[in-house]
Amino acid sequence: MHVTRSQIVSRGLHQACPNCGSRTLFQPGKRFAINPACPACGLKFDRGDGFFLGPFVVIYTFTVAFAIVPLLVLSIFGLIGPAAAITLGGGCAFAIPALLYRSSWSWWLMGYFYFLPEKLPHNRGALREDEEE
Ligand SMILES: [Zn+2]
Repeated sequence: MHVTRSQIVSRGLHQACPNCGSRTLFQPGKRFAINPACPACGLKFDRGDGFFLGPFVVIYTFTVAFAIVPLLVLSIFGLIGPAAAITLGGGCAFAIPALLYRSSWSWWLMGYFYFLPEKLPHNRGALREDEEE
């Protein structure tokens, strides 16, 4: 079985495992707990050595680009007051990461495997992930 880049993007947008497409990224019943590996195919989601920081970068970029900078611009041009901008910015800094936590993991995995599709077990043939390292 071969996983294409369009499948990786589709699975990333649907919070599914990039390798097998199962909706197994997160532990059942827990909003903020990612599975260490896919229960269906064994793909490691947290690939070690700071990989968990990737979703933080995604969320930080999203929050700054779509909340903090627009609020700053609105405040600079006098459309909202500085107190309102700071209050809304602070609220967004907590709300957006909480709301997009799952998507940030999925988008990070999507980006990682989009550029390194050969790292997916289904794209490596018989070579198992554990045998590589
Ligand atoms: Zn899987």
